[in-house]
Amino acid sequence: MGSAGERDDSRHALLSKARPVQQTSVEAFVGHRHESRDRPSPPRSEFGTYQVKELEVDSALTDCSLPSRCWSLNPYTGCSHDCAYCYVPDVAHLERGNWGDYVVAKTNLPRKLEHELKTKPRRSVFLSSATDPYQPAEDRHRITRRSLELLVREGWPVLILTRSPLVERDLDLLTQLEDVAVGMSIPTIDDEARQVLEPTAPPIEGRLNAISALADAGLEPFVNVAPAYPLTNGIRPDEVAEAIADAGAAEVFLSRWRYLDDVVPVLADRVDGSIYGDFVDAVQDESYYDRLLASLQGAFRRAGIPLRRM
Ligand code: SF4
Repeated sequence: MGSAGERDDSRHALLSKARPVQQTSVEAFVGHRHESRDRPSPPRSEFGTYQVKELEVDSALTDCSLPSRCWSLNPYTGCSHDCAYCYVPDVAHLERGNWGDYVVAKTNLPRKLEHELKTKPRRSVFLSSATDPYQPAEDRHRITRRSLELLVREGWPVLILTRSPLVERDLDLLTQLEDVAVGMSIPTIDDEARQVLEPTAPPIEGRLNAISALADAGLEPFVNVAPAYPLTNGIRPDEVAEAIADAGAAEVFLSRWRYLDDVVPVLADRVDGSIYGDFVDAVQDESYYDRLLASLQGAFRRAGIPLRRM
């Protein structure tokens, strides 16, 4: 994360317009996790603080970059999950230096969405292309939930991708949608590696439990193993596939690391002094990744889960 002392929000195109709300921590997320006894809460000491700001936006739905025609709906700008490999600063032309330090809640987004659902062409709505719609700020701001209520009312198709078990809160809405796909990002099953590369994102066990909850609700969840971490701590491809299959995933999407020019320096900084120093070479080694993805593909085939390479 960038240092608050170095940050000059007045030069940031979006932060300069946003209204500060509070300094907060991931308390909201931890509080949610306490509701379930089988999901261990991560130690508080792993989490820093991030700024939460509020902003009114001019529109809700934006063109989506996925191959299929869809709309993107991003309830927040910024993401406190702060993944080392996040591609958003690159594609959205945001400063990488303070990515993870701030979250801007788009407070009027549901009101804008309500209007646009009546005036824009009906397409699938992707939550979200440039943020995690269920990051900790959602527990308090509920912009994703209020948007889903509108999408349910109008019956639009919805695609959700998250790293957070907070998605379980909205099962009552998700199960009302006729056309819905819900996915969980699980790029590794090694939670120690996760703590190095995405320290403020939910632990892997919670994500696997969330897949089970989604599957139990009949939602046929998918899992994104993207970008796949190098295999660590002696974990075998079959163990990855079995963990995700046992959780109840219906389909898996697999990818290698992208935006290496920008991501590798962040990765090098995160793994410095850890046992994951060789990640820096591994993610840039095409032949290693060809073998890794092929072995994961074989493992998922043996586990009986359809897999697509992205
Ligand atoms: S959860 Fe997604 S948007 Fe958030 S930091 Fe990670 S990759 Fe980026």
